[in-house]
Amino acid sequence: MPDLDATHSPDLRSWVASAQGHAEFPIQNLPLGVFSPPGGTPRGGVAIGNEILDLAAAGRAGLFGGEAARAAEAAGAPALNALLALGAGPRRALRTQLSALLAEGSPHQAQVAPLLHPAAGCTLHLPTVIGDYTDFYVGIHHATNVGRVFRPDDPLLPNYKYVPIGYHGRASSVRPSGTAFHRPKGQRKPATQATPDFGPCRNLDYELELGIWIGPGNELGEPVSIAEAPAQVAGYSLLNDWSARDIQAWEYQPLGPFLAKNFCSTVSTWIVTPEALAPFRVPQPPRPEGDPAPLPYLLDEADQREGALDLQLEVLILTPAMREKGLPPQTLSRSNAQHMYWTVAQMLTHHTSNGCNLQPGDLLGSGTLSAPGEEGFGSLLESTKGGKELVQLTSGETRRFLEDGDEVFLRAHAHRPGAVSIGFGECRGTVLPAV
Ligand code: MN
Repeated sequence: MPDLDATHSPDLRSWVASAQGHAEFPIQNLPLGVFSPPGGTPRGGVAIGNEILDLAAAGRAGLFGGEAARAAEAAGAPALNALLALGAGPRRALRTQLSALLAEGSPHQAQVAPLLHPAAGCTLHLPTVIGDYTDFYVGIHHATNVGRVFRPDDPLLPNYKYVPIGYHGRASSVRPSGTAFHRPKGQRKPATQATPDFGPCRNLDYELELGIWIGPGNELGEPVSIAEAPAQVAGYSLLNDWSARDIQAWEYQPLGPFLAKNFCSTVSTWIVTPEALAPFRVPQPPRPEGDPAPLPYLLDEADQREGALDLQLEVLILTPAMREKGLPPQTLSRSNAQHMYWTVAQMLTHHTSNGCNLQPGDLLGSGTLSAPGEEGFGSLLESTKGGKELVQLTSGETRRFLEDGDEVFLRAHAHRPGAVSIGFGECRGTVLPAV
């Protein structure tokens, strides 16, 4: 296992009672985010059980030393760009000292306890001011399923196994979990119509994706090598890349996604660090027989050995009728972050390979991460075969695509024998009627 230390020990327990056995935020996780306590302004915090610790307040109380103190000071801003820019050293130091402060037996418990805020009473915000957002397409089962609709015999285009495919998304419309958004309007041209018309999207979809937060970044004209790429990753979130399939089908050629994608994208609000995910790193799955090897600039032995994540992913839906009947959200699919044809390091290295600069707090999306088989579809486009079939719900309803009032939840949990399981917190959004 890479980089495991005392902060990962399964024997470690926190004096914060709710952290014990917490499905998302035990003391082994310690994700970073931005929150406002009741009546307070946005600031950096760390989730522990059902509480949030105010990082800058803990810094002002003199609870951190060295690089961790610098990191805690940077976390006093209303966005974590400056903290992420500090890179892995200060971030690791902060984790190490936080773990000691929050562990059972800490001599500082009495000083730390008043700096905790019950999460239920806090407002969570986007963790950074996102300068740029790029969405990739590395979920090979999704790419194959979608490609099959158009090219049954040859679903993947010839570049797919050479290029980590992506497009520049829109940062201004990324929103934190819990934000509702209006169904977009746009140009629609069903096959039955000779000309397009303008109106509310009829084929509104979700996409189950992993979000990647950029750390220090690189200067324009200075590519990041594959060996250096892991040091550029500040952490991970869930990302729902809401998609208007009817608008997309009409607009996407020849330049790719545009208004079908940029009306809203939802991220989970906690940045789960590479340190927290260290116990869940796994080898990149071998490429199928006959596939080309990655070009040399995308191939690194350490990245192939430990560049993938064993992270269980889930999509759930709660419709207004289910809510009225008191039914719980229904699981629509289950997948895993191992279904990425390219690693995060390969995505990042390719992105900068022409000299393009990434900046602290930028966001990358993985693309939809479907698992093989019917149970693993990461979008309704796949589940309903492009809207030709219906998904059955426990309420007796069916869905072709999303309807007004539908709420979609993404979840991520990491489990490994010998490690304490951690989660990402929720990535949730609700569809409101078109304006
Ligand atoms: Mn996407």
